[in-house]
Amino acid sequence: MKISEIVKPGQTAFTFEIFPPKKDSPIETIYKTLDGLHQLKPDFISVTYGAGGSANGGNKTVEIAQIIREKYGIESAVHLTCLYNDKNDVDEVLRDLDARGIKNILALRGDANPQYEIKHDFAHASDMISYIKSKGDYHVMAACYPEGHLEAESLDADVWNLRKKVDAGADHLLSQLFFDNEAFYRFRDKADAADIRVPIEAGIMPVVSKSSIERMVTMCGASLPPKFTKMMAKYENYPDAIRDAGIAYAIDQIVDLASHGVDGIHLYTMNNPYVATKISEAVNGILRFDR
Ligand code: FAD
Repeated sequence: MKISEIVKPGQTAFTFEIFPPKKDSPIETIYKTLDGLHQLKPDFISVTYGAGGSANGGNKTVEIAQIIREKYGIESAVHLTCLYNDKNDVDEVLRDLDARGIKNILALRGDANPQYEIKHDFAHASDMISYIKSKGDYHVMAACYPEGHLEAESLDADVWNLRKKVDAGADHLLSQLFFDNEAFYRFRDKADAADIRVPIEAGIMPVVSKSSIERMVTMCGASLPPKFTKMMAKYENYPDAIRDAGIAYAIDQIVDLASHGVDGIHLYTMNNPYVATKISEAVNGILRFDR
């Protein structure tokens, strides 16, 4: 089923993201994560795609997306990057998705990694989005960046590039993680001014350990409000305390976003059902009150 058939306009979607097990781990290790996550009944679960594309086990993404639909009865979406895939590779992935009944794709460019050979059919996600749209009836999502993509010269320039993805056919946007809701509201206003009319889900990453915050902030450059840095400074060396504080912070962000009428919450679960459960229990009544 296409995601657009699950969540109606005006409702707040609640969706999860997971990543496949490492290359040398068996695919079955994902069951432990999914056993915990599926009972929270997210609107869909998306599965990330490793750098290097199909050359680096990209097919595990599609296999796991099928397991989510068929074994757990939850709709799924596959992430797909175009830096390491050419048109033939994308055709092959689409045939595989068709055979497995998967209709939902998060179309991304990906990041350069010297380990893998870059292919040149698609320079940007927008190029792959129009290609996928020309190939069949898929629900295509794209990434957006509330504080601007790291390579963009400004947030305004990035929003205009986002508009190109929507013009190319993106049906729905999932945001990069952020810790400052005000940044998200400013971005949403700019998207509105750029006439971007598709749903925008807010990406929420619960920070539950010191190492996860360092890694994430280096990778995406999210700004850290004083409320967040104070929390980190106080609890970062106490694992139970930082976990509980990170969960509480994410819940606080979600409640605020929901009351500001956000289209959806995309929870970066980091394959951690404990954290996703705590958050879901706290926000379920808020996100589902109109279902
Ligand atoms: P693009 O849309 O191509 O944008 C990249 C840069 O080019 C931006 O600066 C943008 O402003 C500019 N740009 C965009 N379109 C144009 C255009 N038409 N003309 C000129 N400039 C343009 N990476 C993975 O490898 N695997 C994953 O599973 C994965 N999942 C992700 C999920 C989410 C929700 C998000 C937010 C990111 C994810 N990423 C993933 C990371 C993503 O691949 C990187 O952020 C990458 O650097 C950019 O991808 P993009 O699709 O936004 O690229």
